Amino acid sequence: MKQAERDLTRMTDLQAFLVDAIKTFVAESPANRLRDIDGSPIFEEPLVGFADGDDPLFELYKTVAGERHMTPREVLAAQSPTSAGGEPPELSRVGVVSWILPIAKETRLSNRKMADGPSLRWNHTRFQGEEFNGALCRHVVSLFEEKGYVAVPPMFAPTFKSFRSATAGWTSTWSERHAAYAAGLGTFSLTDGLITARGIAHRCGSVVANAAFIPSSRPYSHHLANCPYPEDGTCGACIKRCPGGAIGATGHDKEKCYQTLAKTLRPFLERPGYIGYYAACGLCQTKVPCESRIPRRATPKRVSTASVVE
Ligand code: SF4
Ligand code: SF4
Repeated sequence: MKQAERDLTRMTDLQAFLVDAIKTFVAESPANRLRDIDGSPIFEEPLVGFADGDDPLFELYKTVAGERHMTPREVLAAQSPTSAGGEPPELSRVGVVSWILPIAKETRLSNRKMADGPSLRWNHTRFQGEEFNGALCRHVVSLFEEKGYVAVPPMFAPTFKSFRSATAGWTSTWSERHAAYAAGLGTFSLTDGLITARGIAHRCGSVVANAAFIPSSRPYSHHLANCPYPEDGTCGACIKRCPGGAIGATGHDKEKCYQTLAKTLRPFLERPGYIGYYAACGLCQTKVPCESRIPRRATPKRVSTASVVE
């Protein structure tokens, strides 16, 4: 077998192993349960995609997602053993594995009934679901390490920072949605959320490693392809769902959304059983056509040449 064939086989095997391991962890981990409600799963079967860590998109993200957004290579280099005085890792190839965790149907249904704030199940999903997402990140890192790779979950690395920028508003050094877009898992939308084959009601995560992957194809023509509104003005259901008026014809106002969740809806956190430090409402992700699928279009799709934007 030639070297190129051996490399291809190694990549295919590693990717198949990771997809299976991530799906198994989501299906079997006790952490993926609404432990304070009824013990039912927080997330359904995940979608998994792969990107080349040196894909030019990641450099482009410094322009469109914030100048401090890090490339996978930068994340990996910053967390390498070198910083602790060890041997520098071999970084000839850098890859990203990204996943989408679709929110369980019963939770989506409960949030559909809400008009002014999150349901109890949605509230627990936001916070306990993110705990689970962290456990999944650690699990994936351990799988890489068992195979001799260096791996880092950017969102849970010491380099991760979330901050208010004068030009871009709320931004951070890593965006899971942008990683998922690069890995072929979905496109952005009027709300800034990522519409995937399993819809917009999800949480997402990723790990970067010094591994070569066969990149997943990106089955979309531009960064907003899965949301009809920017192209033809149809849908717009999320505009009416937002209790804070944070979504309009020109998109999602992150500051208004933040003020709504952190201040206007704060009394929700005083309701019996509610947890967390802000009232993530997710009303724009439920009772909308993109909740659990890519919405059908009322008019034929036009191809846009627009670039990736936040
Ligand atoms: S509700 Fe409609 S307009 Fe809003 S993000 Fe979903 S598909 Fe786009
Ligand atoms: S999360 Fe809530 S407040 Fe923010 S845009 Fe969506 S519906 Fe509006």
